[in-house]
Amino acid sequence: MPNQHTTEDAASSEAMLVPLDLGELQIVSQHWLANGTIRVEVMATTTQAACPHCQHICVKIHDMRPRKKRDMALRGHPVELIVLKRRFRCLHCRTSFTEPDTACGWRRKTTARLREAIGKQAYTQPIAHVATATGVGPRFAQECFQTVACQDIEQKGLSMDEQQPLATPQYLGIDEFARRKGHCYDTILCDLEARQVLDVSAGRKQEEVVALLER
Ligand SMILES: [Zn+2]
Repeated sequence: MPNQHTTEDAASSEAMLVPLDLGELQIVSQHWLANGTIRVEVMATTTQAACPHCQHICVKIHDMRPRKKRDMALRGHPVELIVLKRRFRCLHCRTSFTEPDTACGWRRKTTARLREAIGKQAYTQPIAHVATATGVGPRFAQECFQTVACQDIEQKGLSMDEQQPLATPQYLGIDEFARRKGHCYDTILCDLEARQVLDVSAGRKQEEVVALLER
């Protein structure tokens, strides 16, 4: 089975092969839709799964259900993944369960790498712009940005501790954003020169921002 993207039918003369680069998934089929979307049918490469109830390793497939997910666009073409999610039957405790989705996460409709890419774009572009360019809602783009920013802060060894002092950059960027539309405003501080998030802090009221700046 080829583990690559290919466009079919209409554009076969312009088709190209690109690796899917999702090691846990294998390609079952792929289609070029009339609207320019590349639809790739995939399923997990594993042949077994651990029962979440009794940890018994199961190989008996109960059924398979297609789930539509969105992946990163390819040369401007939207990529739609049809994940054939298998349900296993545990012969030990007699229950059925759906296999985990490592590429997207529990009940997510997008791949983790798409969410990360959207979040990273929001470092240098306004959320509304990123949302329009990637064809997602601004709230979703915001959520992607917050996830990436929080991971970044932790990876850089910076603390999520609200009391810890912060570095003083040459050029400080400050903005507010809503965690939910119209609710729960937070403040973000950036080092504009280093293009780094310094902190994401709850609240945007004057006293909250003053406390943040004092750090
Ligand atoms: Zn079981």
